[in-house]
Amino acid sequence: MLKTHTCGELRPEHTGQAVTLAGWVHTQRNQGGLIFIDLRDRWGLTQITIDQAATPAVHEAASDVRNEYVIQVQGIVHPRPAGMVNANLPTGAIEVQATALTVLNPARVPPFYINRDEKVDEALRMKYRYMDLRRQHMQRNIVLRHRVIKYIRDYLDAQGFVEIETPILFKTTPEGARDYLVPSRVHPGKFYALPQSPQQLKQLLMVAGYERYFQIARCFRDEDQRGDRQPEFTQLDMEMSFVEREDVLNLVEDLMTGIVEEVSDRQLLTRPFPRLLQRDAMEKYGSDKPDMRYDLAWADISAVATRSSFGVFQSAVKDGGKVKALRVPGGAAGLNNSQLRKLVEELEALAKENGAKGLSWLALAGEAGGEVRGTMAKFFPEELQAELFGLLGTEAGDLVLFLAGPAQALYPVQDALRRNLAERLELTDPAQIAFAWIIDFPLFEWNEDEHRWDPSHHLFTSPMPEDIPLLDTDPGQARGQQYDLCCNGYEIAGGSIRIHQREIQEKIFGLIGLDVEVARERFGHMLEAFEYGTPPHGGIAPGIDRLVMLLAGEPNIREVIAFPKTQQAADLMAGAPSEAEPGQLHDLHIRVVEKQ
Ligand code: ASP
Repeated sequence: MLKTHTCGELRPEHTGQAVTLAGWVHTQRNQGGLIFIDLRDRWGLTQITIDQAATPAVHEAASDVRNEYVIQVQGIVHPRPAGMVNANLPTGAIEVQATALTVLNPARVPPFYINRDEKVDEALRMKYRYMDLRRQHMQRNIVLRHRVIKYIRDYLDAQGFVEIETPILFKTTPEGARDYLVPSRVHPGKFYALPQSPQQLKQLLMVAGYERYFQIARCFRDEDQRGDRQPEFTQLDMEMSFVEREDVLNLVEDLMTGIVEEVSDRQLLTRPFPRLLQRDAMEKYGSDKPDMRYDLAWADISAVATRSSFGVFQSAVKDGGKVKALRVPGGAAGLNNSQLRKLVEELEALAKENGAKGLSWLALAGEAGGEVRGTMAKFFPEELQAELFGLLGTEAGDLVLFLAGPAQALYPVQDALRRNLAERLELTDPAQIAFAWIIDFPLFEWNEDEHRWDPSHHLFTSPMPEDIPLLDTDPGQARGQQYDLCCNGYEIAGGSIRIHQREIQEKIFGLIGLDVEVARERFGHMLEAFEYGTPPHGGIAPGIDRLVMLLAGEPNIREVIAFPKTQQAADLMAGAPSEAEPGQLHDLHIRVVEKQ
Protein backbone atom coordinates (compact mmCIF):
# COMPACT_ATOMS: atom_id res chain seq x y z
CA MET A 1 0.00 0.00 0.00
CA LEU A 2 1.14 3.51 -0.73
CA LYS A 3 -0.29 4.61 2.62
CA THR A 4 -0.11 3.30 6.18
CA HIS A 5 -3.24 5.07 7.41
CA THR A 6 -6.28 6.78 5.95
CA CYS A 7 -6.75 10.52 6.18
CA GLY A 8 -9.50 10.04 8.74
CA GLU A 9 -7.64 7.78 11.09
CA LEU A 10 -4.93 9.49 13.07
CA ARG A 11 -5.53 10.57 16.68
CA PRO A 12 -3.38 11.84 19.57
CA GLU A 13 -2.53 8.25 20.51
CA HIS A 14 -0.56 7.99 17.25
CA THR A 15 1.76 10.76 18.43
CA GLY A 16 5.37 10.09 17.51
CA GLN A 17 4.56 7.45 14.88
CA ALA A 18 6.06 7.65 11.40
CA VAL A 19 3.20 7.40 8.93
CA THR A 20 2.61 7.56 5.20
CA LEU A 21 -0.57 9.14 3.88
CA ALA A 22 -1.74 9.48 0.30
CA GLY A 23 -4.69 11.32 -1.18
CA TRP A 24 -5.85 14.54 -2.76
CA VAL A 25 -4.83 18.07 -1.83
CA HIS A 26 -8.00 19.53 -0.37
CA THR A 27 -6.42 22.91 0.40
CA GLN A 28 -2.91 24.30 0.47
CA ARG A 29 -2.04 27.40 2.52
CA ASN A 30 1.41 28.85 2.13
CA GLN A 31 2.33 30.99 5.12
CA GLY A 32 5.94 31.58 4.17
CA GLY A 33 8.08 29.43 6.41
CA LEU A 34 5.18 27.02 7.00
CA ILE A 35 2.89 25.35 4.47
CA PHE A 36 -0.31 23.66 5.55
CA ILE A 37 -1.94 21.03 3.36
CA ASP A 38 -5.28 19.44 4.16
CA LEU A 39 -4.91 16.00 2.65
CA ARG A 40 -8.15 14.23 1.76
CA ASP A 41 -9.26 10.72 1.03
CA ARG A 42 -12.60 8.98 1.33
CA TRP A 43 -12.18 8.66 5.10
CA GLY A 44 -11.44 12.25 5.97
CA LEU A 45 -8.94 15.10 6.14
CA THR A 46 -5.57 15.30 7.83
CA GLN A 47 -3.51 18.42 8.25
CA ILE A 48 0.04 18.16 6.97
CA THR A 49 2.55 20.82 8.05
CA ILE A 50 5.76 21.47 6.18
CA ASP A 51 8.41 23.51 7.93
CA GLN A 52 10.91 25.25 5.64
CA ALA A 53 13.58 25.43 8.33
CA ALA A 54 13.41 21.72 9.17
CA THR A 55 12.79 20.28 5.69
CA PRO A 56 13.68 22.81 2.96
CA ALA A 57 13.40 20.33 0.03
CA VAL A 58 9.97 19.12 1.15
CA HIS A 59 8.90 22.74 1.59
CA GLU A 60 9.90 23.49 -1.99
CA ALA A 61 7.98 20.50 -3.33
CA ALA A 62 4.93 21.46 -1.23
CA SER A 63 4.91 25.04 -2.46
CA ASP A 64 4.20 23.79 -6.00
CA VAL A 65 1.24 21.54 -5.23
CA ARG A 66 -2.25 22.73 -6.12
CA ASN A 67 -5.73 21.61 -5.15
CA GLU A 68 -6.60 18.08 -6.28
CA TYR A 69 -3.01 17.02 -6.86
CA VAL A 70 -2.57 13.42 -5.76
CA ILE A 71 0.32 13.28 -3.33
CA GLN A 72 2.00 10.95 -0.91
CA VAL A 73 3.37 12.28 2.36
CA GLN A 74 5.65 10.72 4.90
CA GLY A 75 5.89 12.28 8.31
CA ILE A 76 5.57 12.11 12.05
CA VAL A 77 2.30 12.52 13.97
CA HIS A 78 2.34 15.45 16.40
CA PRO A 79 -0.33 16.86 18.65
CA ARG A 80 -1.45 20.25 17.33
CA PRO A 81 -0.22 23.21 19.34
CA ALA A 82 -2.69 24.42 21.99
CA GLY A 83 -5.27 26.73 20.43
CA MET A 84 -4.87 25.10 16.98
CA VAL A 85 -7.03 22.05 17.73
CA ASN A 86 -10.00 21.75 15.34
CA ALA A 87 -12.84 20.19 17.31
CA ASN A 88 -14.98 19.85 14.15
CA LEU A 89 -12.56 17.40 12.54
CA PRO A 90 -12.08 13.85 13.86
CA THR A 91 -8.36 14.23 13.15
CA GLY A 92 -8.38 17.82 14.42
CA ALA A 93 -6.18 17.19 17.46
CA ILE A 94 -3.14 16.10 15.43
CA GLU A 95 -1.08 17.07 12.43
CA VAL A 96 1.53 15.25 10.42
CA GLN A 97 4.86 17.04 10.11
CA ALA A 98 6.11 16.02 6.68
CA THR A 99 9.53 14.53 6.14
CA ALA A 100 8.92 13.65 2.47
CA LEU A 101 6.36 14.58 -0.18
CA THR A 102 5.88 12.98 -3.59
CA VAL A 103 3.51 14.22 -6.26
CA LEU A 104 1.91 11.06 -7.62
CA ASN A 105 -0.12 12.96 -10.17
CA PRO A 106 -0.77 16.65 -10.71
CA ALA A 107 -4.25 17.94 -11.54
CA ARG A 108 -5.64 20.61 -13.80
CA VAL A 109 -7.73 23.32 -12.18
CA PRO A 110 -11.04 21.56 -11.43
CA PRO A 111 -14.15 22.76 -13.26
CA PHE A 112 -15.73 23.54 -9.87
CA TYR A 113 -14.67 23.57 -6.24
CA ILE A 114 -14.26 20.10 -4.81
CA ASN A 115 -13.51 21.42 -1.35
CA ARG A 116 -16.64 23.53 -0.95
CA ASP A 117 -20.19 22.35 -0.63
CA GLU A 118 -21.68 24.92 -2.96
CA LYS A 119 -24.23 24.73 -5.73
CA VAL A 120 -22.75 23.86 -9.11
CA ASP A 121 -24.49 23.84 -12.48
CA GLU A 122 -25.92 20.35 -12.88
CA ALA A 123 -24.76 19.85 -16.48
CA LEU A 124 -21.21 20.62 -15.42
CA ARG A 125 -21.50 18.19 -12.53
CA MET A 126 -22.71 15.47 -14.90
CA LYS A 127 -19.97 16.10 -17.46
CA TYR A 128 -17.31 15.86 -14.75
CA ARG A 129 -19.13 13.34 -12.63
CA TYR A 130 -15.89 11.75 -11.43
CA MET A 131 -14.97 15.12 -9.93
CA ASP A 132 -18.44 15.66 -8.56
CA LEU A 133 -18.30 12.25 -6.90
CA ARG A 134 -15.12 13.34 -5.17
CA ARG A 135 -17.04 15.94 -3.19
CA GLN A 136 -17.65 15.01 0.41
CA HIS A 137 -21.42 15.09 0.33
CA MET A 138 -21.52 12.82 -2.72
CA GLN A 139 -19.13 10.39 -1.09
CA ARG A 140 -21.36 10.37 1.97
CA ASN A 141 -24.39 9.55 -0.19
CA ILE A 142 -22.69 6.79 -2.15
CA VAL A 143 -21.36 5.17 1.01
CA LEU A 144 -24.79 5.43 2.64
CA ARG A 145 -26.23 3.65 -0.40
CA HIS A 146 -23.67 0.88 0.04
CA ARG A 147 -24.60 0.53 3.71
CA VAL A 148 -28.30 0.35 2.96
CA ILE A 149 -27.74 -2.39 0.40
CA LYS A 150 -25.40 -4.26 2.74
CA TYR A 151 -28.00 -4.09 5.52
CA ILE A 152 -30.66 -5.42 3.13
CA ARG A 153 -28.48 -8.33 2.05
CA ASP A 154 -27.57 -9.31 5.60
CA TYR A 155 -31.13 -8.94 6.84
CA LEU A 156 -32.71 -11.00 4.07
CA ASP A 157 -30.00 -13.64 4.22
CA ALA A 158 -30.80 -14.08 7.92
CA GLN A 159 -34.47 -14.47 6.97
CA GLY A 160 -33.74 -17.32 4.58
CA PHE A 161 -33.82 -15.36 1.32
CA VAL A 162 -31.62 -16.29 -1.62
CA GLU A 163 -30.20 -13.63 -3.93
CA ILE A 164 -30.67 -14.75 -7.52
CA GLU A 165 -29.72 -12.84 -10.65
CA THR A 166 -32.15 -12.74 -13.53
CA PRO A 167 -31.35 -11.87 -17.14
CA ILE A 168 -31.15 -8.37 -18.52
CA LEU A 169 -31.68 -9.58 -22.07
CA PHE A 170 -35.19 -10.94 -21.88
CA LYS A 171 -38.68 -10.52 -23.16
CA THR A 172 -41.17 -7.76 -22.49
CA THR A 173 -42.22 -7.44 -18.82
CA PRO A 174 -44.81 -4.72 -18.77
CA GLU A 175 -44.89 -2.28 -15.85
CA GLY A 176 -46.68 0.47 -17.71
CA ALA A 177 -43.71 1.93 -19.61
CA ARG A 178 -42.09 1.44 -23.02
CA ASP A 179 -39.48 -1.27 -23.37
CA TYR A 180 -35.85 -0.70 -24.23
CA LEU A 181 -35.17 -3.08 -27.09
CA VAL A 182 -31.89 -4.75 -27.98
CA PRO A 183 -31.60 -6.03 -31.54
CA SER A 184 -30.35 -9.56 -31.95
CA ARG A 185 -27.45 -10.06 -34.36
CA VAL A 186 -27.90 -13.82 -34.35
CA HIS A 187 -31.65 -13.65 -35.03
CA PRO A 188 -32.14 -10.98 -37.68
CA GLY A 189 -35.22 -8.86 -37.08
CA LYS A 190 -35.68 -10.08 -33.52
CA PHE A 191 -35.24 -8.14 -30.31
CA TYR A 192 -34.71 -8.69 -26.64
CA ALA A 193 -36.48 -6.37 -24.23
CA LEU A 194 -34.67 -5.09 -21.15
CA PRO A 195 -36.72 -5.90 -18.07
CA GLN A 196 -38.99 -3.16 -16.73
CA SER A 197 -38.70 -5.33 -13.62
CA PRO A 198 -37.84 -9.00 -12.98
CA GLN A 199 -41.54 -9.59 -12.27
CA GLN A 200 -42.09 -12.69 -14.41
CA LEU A 201 -38.78 -14.27 -13.50
CA LYS A 202 -39.26 -13.89 -9.78
CA GLN A 203 -42.66 -15.51 -10.08
CA LEU A 204 -41.12 -18.33 -12.06
CA LEU A 205 -38.54 -18.73 -9.29
CA MET A 206 -41.46 -19.34 -6.96
CA VAL A 207 -42.75 -22.00 -9.34
CA ALA A 208 -39.21 -23.38 -9.17
CA GLY A 209 -39.46 -23.75 -5.41
CA TYR A 210 -37.03 -21.11 -4.09
CA GLU A 211 -39.73 -19.71 -1.76
CA ARG A 212 -37.78 -16.63 -0.69
CA TYR A 213 -35.98 -14.66 -3.41
CA PHE A 214 -34.47 -11.23 -3.60
CA GLN A 215 -32.27 -9.28 -5.95
CA ILE A 216 -30.79 -5.80 -6.06
CA ALA A 217 -32.22 -5.48 -9.53
CA ARG A 218 -31.68 -2.97 -12.29
CA CYS A 219 -34.90 -2.06 -14.10
CA PHE A 220 -35.25 -0.26 -17.42
CA ARG A 221 -38.22 1.85 -18.41
CA ASP A 222 -38.33 4.05 -21.47
CA GLU A 223 -40.62 6.75 -20.17
CA ASP A 224 -40.97 10.36 -21.09
CA GLN A 225 -38.68 11.82 -18.50
CA ARG A 226 -41.22 13.64 -16.41
CA GLY A 227 -40.30 14.41 -12.85
CA ASP A 228 -37.44 12.80 -11.05
CA ARG A 229 -37.03 9.49 -12.86
CA GLN A 230 -34.22 7.58 -14.44
CA PRO A 231 -34.39 5.31 -17.49
CA GLU A 232 -32.55 2.71 -15.43
CA PHE A 233 -33.01 2.44 -11.72
CA THR A 234 -32.47 -0.04 -8.92
CA GLN A 235 -35.02 -1.82 -6.84
CA LEU A 236 -34.93 -4.39 -4.10
CA ASP A 237 -36.94 -7.04 -5.87
CA MET A 238 -38.48 -9.67 -3.58
CA GLU A 239 -40.85 -12.58 -3.80
CA MET A 240 -42.10 -15.10 -1.25
CA SER A 241 -44.18 -18.27 -1.52
CA PHE A 242 -46.98 -19.45 0.76
CA VAL A 243 -47.51 -15.94 2.10
CA GLU A 244 -50.42 -13.64 2.69
CA ARG A 245 -50.36 -9.88 2.49
CA GLU A 246 -49.68 -9.58 6.21
CA ASP A 247 -46.46 -11.57 5.91
CA VAL A 248 -45.03 -9.36 3.20
CA LEU A 249 -46.02 -6.15 4.97
CA ASN A 250 -44.57 -7.24 8.30
CA LEU A 251 -41.28 -8.34 6.82
CA VAL A 252 -40.79 -5.15 4.81
CA GLU A 253 -41.83 -3.01 7.76
CA ASP A 254 -39.22 -4.65 9.94
CA LEU A 255 -36.58 -4.27 7.23
CA MET A 256 -37.35 -0.58 6.64
CA THR A 257 -37.35 0.14 10.36
CA GLY A 258 -33.94 -1.47 10.68
CA ILE A 259 -32.55 0.51 7.76
CA VAL A 260 -33.74 3.84 9.14
CA GLU A 261 -32.76 3.16 12.72
CA GLU A 262 -29.51 1.30 12.20
CA VAL A 263 -28.07 2.68 8.98
CA SER A 264 -29.27 6.26 8.76
CA ASP A 265 -29.27 9.19 11.14
CA ARG A 266 -32.97 9.91 10.46
CA GLN A 267 -35.76 9.81 12.96
CA LEU A 268 -38.53 7.28 12.27
CA LEU A 269 -41.87 8.87 13.10
CA THR A 270 -44.35 6.09 12.40
CA ARG A 271 -44.05 2.72 14.10
CA PRO A 272 -46.03 0.61 13.40
CA PHE A 273 -46.56 2.01 9.91
CA PRO A 274 -50.12 3.28 9.58
CA ARG A 275 -52.28 1.43 7.05
CA LEU A 276 -54.65 3.41 4.91
CA LEU A 277 -57.25 2.09 2.52
CA GLN A 278 -56.46 3.57 -0.86
CA ARG A 279 -59.93 5.11 -1.02
CA ASP A 280 -59.51 6.76 2.39
CA ALA A 281 -56.08 8.10 1.48
CA MET A 282 -57.55 9.73 -1.61
CA GLU A 283 -60.45 11.21 0.34
CA LYS A 284 -58.34 12.58 3.19
CA TYR A 285 -55.14 13.56 1.42
CA GLY A 286 -56.04 13.56 -2.27
CA SER A 287 -53.12 11.20 -2.85
CA ASP A 288 -52.23 7.54 -2.50
CA LYS A 289 -48.74 8.54 -1.42
CA PRO A 290 -49.49 11.07 1.31
CA ASP A 291 -46.72 12.62 3.33
CA MET A 292 -47.41 11.39 6.86
CA ARG A 293 -44.86 13.60 8.58
CA TYR A 294 -47.77 15.97 9.17
CA ASP A 295 -51.49 15.51 9.57
CA LEU A 296 -53.39 18.15 7.51
CA ALA A 297 -56.30 15.88 6.55
CA TRP A 298 -59.30 17.00 4.53
CA ALA A 299 -62.73 16.29 6.01
CA ASP A 300 -65.92 15.65 4.07
CA ILE A 301 -68.25 18.36 5.35
CA SER A 302 -70.92 17.97 2.66
CA ALA A 303 -73.70 17.46 5.22
CA VAL A 304 -72.93 20.70 7.07
CA ALA A 305 -72.07 22.66 3.93
CA THR A 306 -75.44 22.03 2.26
CA ARG A 307 -77.08 23.76 5.20
CA SER A 308 -75.07 26.93 4.57
CA SER A 309 -76.51 29.53 2.24
CA PHE A 310 -73.64 29.16 -0.25
CA GLY A 311 -75.24 28.02 -3.52
CA VAL A 312 -72.01 26.58 -4.90
CA PHE A 313 -71.83 24.05 -2.06
CA GLN A 314 -75.43 23.03 -2.48
CA SER A 315 -75.20 22.49 -6.21
CA ALA A 316 -71.90 20.62 -5.90
CA VAL A 317 -73.52 18.09 -3.57
CA LYS A 318 -76.70 17.96 -5.64
CA ASP A 319 -74.58 17.02 -8.67
CA GLY A 320 -73.09 14.11 -6.76
CA GLY A 321 -69.95 15.95 -5.65
CA LYS A 322 -68.54 16.78 -2.25
CA VAL A 323 -67.58 19.70 -0.10
CA LYS A 324 -64.29 19.24 1.69
CA ALA A 325 -62.63 21.32 4.36
CA LEU A 326 -59.06 21.45 5.55
CA ARG A 327 -58.22 22.78 8.98
CA VAL A 328 -54.80 24.43 8.88
CA PRO A 329 -53.68 24.69 12.51
CA GLY A 330 -52.30 28.15 13.18
CA GLY A 331 -52.65 28.98 9.47
CA ALA A 332 -54.05 32.45 10.17
CA ALA A 333 -52.22 33.17 13.40
CA GLY A 334 -50.45 36.49 13.48
CA LEU A 335 -51.56 37.51 9.95
CA ASN A 336 -53.19 40.89 9.38
CA ASN A 337 -55.95 41.28 6.81
CA SER A 338 -53.73 41.99 3.84
CA GLN A 339 -51.27 39.19 4.66
CA LEU A 340 -54.16 36.80 5.03
CA ARG A 341 -55.68 37.92 1.74
CA LYS A 342 -52.35 37.49 -0.02
CA LEU A 343 -51.93 33.98 1.40
CA VAL A 344 -55.41 32.93 0.35
CA GLU A 345 -54.95 34.42 -3.12
CA GLU A 346 -51.79 32.39 -3.60
CA LEU A 347 -53.51 29.25 -2.39
CA GLU A 348 -56.45 29.90 -4.67
CA ALA A 349 -54.13 30.34 -7.67
CA LEU A 350 -52.55 26.97 -6.84
CA ALA A 351 -56.00 25.39 -6.47
CA LYS A 352 -56.98 26.68 -9.89
CA GLU A 353 -53.77 25.45 -11.49
CA ASN A 354 -54.81 22.03 -10.27
CA GLY A 355 -58.27 22.25 -11.71
CA ALA A 356 -60.39 23.83 -8.95
CA LYS A 357 -63.02 26.42 -9.81
CA GLY A 358 -62.23 28.37 -6.67
CA LEU A 359 -61.20 28.22 -3.05
CA SER A 360 -63.23 29.52 -0.13
CA TRP A 361 -61.97 30.11 3.36
CA LEU A 362 -62.52 31.12 6.95
CA ALA A 363 -59.96 32.38 9.43
CA LEU A 364 -60.38 32.25 13.16
CA ALA A 365 -59.01 35.17 15.13
CA GLY A 366 -55.89 34.66 17.21
CA GLU A 367 -57.85 34.85 20.46
CA ALA A 368 -60.83 32.65 21.32
CA GLY A 369 -64.18 34.27 20.62
CA GLY A 370 -62.66 36.84 18.24
CA GLU A 371 -63.98 37.76 14.80
CA VAL A 372 -64.22 35.12 12.07
CA ARG A 373 -62.93 36.44 8.73
CA GLY A 374 -63.15 34.98 5.23
CA THR A 375 -65.33 34.47 2.20
CA MET A 376 -67.51 31.89 3.93
CA ALA A 377 -68.29 33.87 7.11
CA LYS A 378 -71.51 35.34 5.81
CA PHE A 379 -72.80 32.02 4.44
CA PHE A 380 -72.44 30.09 7.69
CA PRO A 381 -74.69 31.43 10.46
CA GLU A 382 -73.08 31.41 13.88
CA GLU A 383 -74.64 28.14 14.98
CA LEU A 384 -73.58 26.32 11.81
CA GLN A 385 -70.09 27.78 12.19
CA ALA A 386 -69.94 26.33 15.70
CA GLU A 387 -71.03 22.94 14.37
CA LEU A 388 -68.43 23.08 11.61
CA PHE A 389 -65.64 24.12 13.96
CA GLY A 390 -66.63 21.35 16.35
CA LEU A 391 -66.43 18.86 13.50
CA LEU A 392 -63.01 20.08 12.37
CA GLY A 393 -61.67 20.63 15.90
CA THR A 394 -60.54 24.17 15.07
CA GLU A 395 -58.79 26.45 17.50
CA ALA A 396 -58.02 30.16 17.64
CA GLY A 397 -55.66 31.22 14.83
CA ASP A 398 -56.66 28.41 12.47
CA LEU A 399 -57.38 28.79 8.79
CA VAL A 400 -60.07 26.63 7.17
CA LEU A 401 -60.09 26.02 3.42
CA PHE A 402 -63.06 24.72 1.41
CA LEU A 403 -63.29 22.97 -1.92
CA ALA A 404 -66.40 21.78 -3.73
CA GLY A 405 -66.87 19.61 -6.79
CA PRO A 406 -66.79 16.02 -8.05
CA ALA A 407 -64.70 13.93 -5.62
CA GLN A 408 -62.19 12.80 -8.27
CA ALA A 409 -61.58 16.33 -9.49
CA LEU A 410 -60.81 17.50 -5.97
CA TYR A 411 -57.99 15.01 -5.32
CA PRO A 412 -55.18 16.82 -7.14
CA VAL A 413 -56.24 20.11 -5.55
CA GLN A 414 -56.36 18.60 -2.07
CA ASP A 415 -52.93 17.11 -2.60
CA ALA A 416 -51.35 20.29 -3.98
CA LEU A 417 -52.75 22.50 -1.21
CA ARG A 418 -51.72 20.08 1.48
CA ARG A 419 -48.13 19.87 0.21
CA ASN A 420 -47.92 23.61 -0.26
CA LEU A 421 -49.20 24.40 3.23
CA ALA A 422 -46.83 21.88 4.76
CA GLU A 423 -43.93 23.71 3.10
CA ARG A 424 -45.17 27.08 4.28
CA LEU A 425 -45.69 25.87 7.83
CA GLU A 426 -42.31 24.10 7.73
CA LEU A 427 -43.75 20.70 8.54
CA THR A 428 -41.45 18.80 6.17
CA ASP A 429 -38.32 18.18 8.16
CA PRO A 430 -36.03 15.99 5.99
CA ALA A 431 -34.54 14.51 9.17
CA GLN A 432 -37.85 12.77 9.80
CA ILE A 433 -39.05 9.66 8.00
CA ALA A 434 -42.70 8.64 7.97
CA PHE A 435 -43.88 5.49 6.23
CA ALA A 436 -47.44 4.36 5.58
CA TRP A 437 -48.96 1.36 3.83
CA ILE A 438 -51.67 1.95 1.27
CA ILE A 439 -53.87 -1.11 0.76
CA ASP A 440 -57.00 -2.23 -1.05
CA PHE A 441 -56.45 -0.65 -4.43
CA PRO A 442 -58.96 -1.15 -7.19
CA LEU A 443 -57.64 -3.89 -9.48
CA PHE A 444 -58.21 -1.82 -12.60
CA GLU A 445 -58.32 1.75 -13.77
CA TRP A 446 -60.51 2.69 -16.70
CA ASN A 447 -58.53 3.88 -19.70
CA GLU A 448 -60.83 6.35 -21.40
CA ASP A 449 -58.61 6.82 -24.48
CA GLU A 450 -58.22 3.13 -25.26
CA HIS A 451 -61.60 2.15 -23.91
CA ARG A 452 -60.38 -0.71 -21.79
CA TRP A 453 -59.27 -1.57 -18.26
CA ASP A 454 -55.65 -0.98 -17.29
CA PRO A 455 -54.19 -2.85 -14.32
CA SER A 456 -53.60 -0.42 -11.44
CA HIS A 457 -50.47 -2.32 -10.49
CA HIS A 458 -49.52 -4.87 -13.12
CA LEU A 459 -50.96 -7.81 -15.01
CA PHE A 460 -50.03 -10.38 -12.41
CA THR A 461 -51.75 -8.92 -9.36
CA SER A 462 -54.37 -11.17 -7.85
CA PRO A 463 -57.89 -9.91 -7.21
CA MET A 464 -59.22 -10.19 -3.66
CA PRO A 465 -60.62 -13.73 -3.54
CA GLU A 466 -64.08 -12.46 -2.64
CA ASP A 467 -64.02 -10.03 -5.59
CA ILE A 468 -63.27 -12.64 -8.27
CA PRO A 469 -66.96 -12.88 -9.32
CA LEU A 470 -66.86 -9.12 -9.99
CA LEU A 471 -64.42 -9.73 -12.84
CA ASP A 472 -67.43 -10.96 -14.84
CA THR A 473 -69.99 -8.48 -13.61
CA ASP A 474 -68.34 -5.21 -12.56
CA PRO A 475 -64.52 -5.23 -12.96
CA GLY A 476 -64.24 -1.59 -11.87
CA GLN A 477 -65.39 -2.59 -8.38
CA ALA A 478 -62.93 -5.46 -7.98
CA ARG A 479 -60.15 -4.83 -5.48
CA GLY A 480 -56.63 -6.09 -6.03
CA GLN A 481 -54.35 -7.65 -3.47
CA GLN A 482 -51.97 -4.78 -4.04
CA TYR A 483 -50.08 -2.74 -1.47
CA ASP A 484 -47.88 0.30 -1.75
CA LEU A 485 -45.44 1.67 0.75
CA CYS A 486 -45.18 5.42 0.82
CA CYS A 487 -42.59 7.53 2.58
CA ASN A 488 -42.49 11.31 3.01
CA GLY A 489 -44.85 11.86 0.08
CA TYR A 490 -43.25 9.38 -2.33
CA GLU A 491 -44.35 5.92 -3.37
CA ILE A 492 -41.31 3.87 -2.49
CA ALA A 493 -42.56 0.33 -2.99
CA GLY A 494 -45.35 -1.49 -4.74
CA GLY A 495 -46.24 -5.12 -4.61
CA SER A 496 -49.01 -7.64 -4.54
CA ILE A 497 -50.14 -11.16 -3.94
CA ARG A 498 -50.03 -12.71 -7.41
CA ILE A 499 -52.31 -14.74 -9.54
CA HIS A 500 -51.19 -18.36 -9.55
CA GLN A 501 -53.96 -19.95 -11.58
CA ARG A 502 -54.05 -20.01 -15.35
CA GLU A 503 -57.79 -19.29 -15.73
CA ILE A 504 -57.68 -16.13 -13.66
CA GLN A 505 -54.54 -14.91 -15.40
CA GLU A 506 -56.19 -15.45 -18.80
CA LYS A 507 -59.31 -13.64 -17.62
CA ILE A 508 -57.20 -10.61 -16.61
CA PHE A 509 -55.47 -10.63 -19.99
CA GLY A 510 -58.90 -10.55 -21.59
CA LEU A 511 -60.15 -7.67 -19.45
CA ILE A 512 -57.19 -5.48 -20.31
CA GLY A 513 -57.88 -6.12 -23.97
CA LEU A 514 -54.98 -8.45 -24.67
CA ASP A 515 -55.83 -10.71 -27.56
CA VAL A 516 -55.65 -14.42 -26.62
CA GLU A 517 -53.04 -15.09 -29.29
CA VAL A 518 -50.91 -12.11 -28.28
CA ALA A 519 -51.19 -13.10 -24.61
CA ARG A 520 -50.02 -16.62 -25.41
CA GLU A 521 -47.16 -15.36 -27.55
CA ARG A 522 -45.97 -12.94 -24.88
CA PHE A 523 -46.78 -14.74 -21.67
CA GLY A 524 -47.34 -18.34 -22.74
CA HIS A 525 -44.41 -19.44 -20.56
CA MET A 526 -46.12 -17.95 -17.48
CA LEU A 527 -49.49 -19.49 -18.29
CA GLU A 528 -47.88 -22.84 -18.87
CA ALA A 529 -45.86 -22.62 -15.65
CA PHE A 530 -49.07 -22.09 -13.71
CA GLU A 531 -50.06 -25.61 -14.76
CA TYR A 532 -47.03 -27.25 -13.17
CA GLY A 533 -47.66 -26.75 -9.48
CA THR A 534 -47.42 -23.07 -8.64
CA PRO A 535 -47.46 -22.11 -4.96
CA PRO A 536 -49.48 -19.08 -3.88
CA HIS A 537 -46.96 -16.25 -3.78
CA GLY A 538 -46.52 -12.53 -3.46
CA GLY A 539 -43.84 -9.90 -3.33
CA ILE A 540 -42.87 -6.30 -3.47
CA ALA A 541 -40.13 -4.08 -4.83
CA PRO A 542 -38.89 -1.07 -2.85
CA GLY A 543 -37.01 1.49 -4.94
CA ILE A 544 -33.47 1.77 -3.65
CA ASP A 545 -32.71 5.12 -5.26
CA ARG A 546 -35.71 6.83 -3.73
CA LEU A 547 -35.18 5.27 -0.32
CA VAL A 548 -31.55 6.34 -0.17
CA MET A 549 -32.51 9.79 -1.43
CA LEU A 550 -34.85 10.21 1.54
CA LEU A 551 -32.34 8.80 4.01
CA ALA A 552 -29.69 11.17 2.67
CA GLY A 553 -32.08 14.13 2.80
CA GLU A 554 -31.48 14.86 -0.89
CA PRO A 555 -34.01 16.49 -3.22
CA ASN A 556 -33.62 14.07 -6.15
CA ILE A 557 -32.36 10.57 -6.95
CA ARG A 558 -29.48 11.79 -9.13
CA GLU A 559 -27.74 12.73 -5.87
CA VAL A 560 -27.56 9.10 -4.77
CA ILE A 561 -26.75 7.40 -8.09
CA ALA A 562 -23.08 7.34 -9.02
CA PHE A 563 -23.60 7.84 -12.76
CA PRO A 564 -27.15 9.01 -13.40
CA LYS A 565 -28.62 10.21 -16.65
CA THR A 566 -30.13 13.60 -17.30
CA GLN A 567 -33.84 14.25 -17.68
CA GLN A 568 -33.30 13.64 -21.41
CA ALA A 569 -31.94 10.17 -20.61
CA ALA A 570 -28.43 11.20 -21.63
CA ASP A 571 -25.04 10.57 -20.05
CA LEU A 572 -23.18 13.86 -20.45
CA MET A 573 -19.85 12.44 -19.32
CA ALA A 574 -19.45 9.64 -21.85
CA GLY A 575 -21.86 11.12 -24.38
CA ALA A 576 -24.43 8.33 -24.43
CA PRO A 577 -26.52 7.59 -26.35
CA SER A 578 -24.38 7.97 -29.45
CA GLU A 579 -24.40 6.87 -33.08
CA ALA A 580 -23.37 3.32 -33.89
CA GLU A 581 -20.68 2.41 -36.41
CA PRO A 582 -22.12 1.53 -39.83
CA GLY A 583 -20.57 -1.93 -39.46
CA GLN A 584 -22.39 -2.51 -36.19
CA LEU A 585 -25.69 -1.52 -37.74
CA HIS A 586 -25.02 -3.79 -40.65
CA ASP A 587 -24.37 -6.75 -38.33
CA LEU A 588 -27.60 -6.00 -36.52
CA HIS A 589 -29.61 -5.77 -39.76
CA ILE A 590 -30.63 -2.25 -38.86
CA ARG A 591 -30.88 0.85 -41.00
CA VAL A 592 -31.35 4.30 -39.46
CA VAL A 593 -34.08 6.19 -41.28
CA GLU A 594 -33.93 9.98 -41.03
CA LYS A 595 -37.13 11.46 -39.65
CA GLN A 596 -38.96 13.48 -42.33
N1 ASP B 1 -42.70 -5.62 -10.31
C1 ASP B 1 -43.31 -4.62 -9.47
C2 ASP B 1 -42.74 -3.25 -9.78
O1 ASP B 1 -41.69 -3.13 -10.35
C3 ASP B 1 -43.13 -4.87 -8.03
C4 ASP B 1 -43.84 -6.09 -7.55
O2 ASP B 1 -45.03 -6.24 -7.83
O3 ASP B 1 -43.20 -6.85 -6.81
O4 ASP B 1 -43.34 -2.27 -9.40
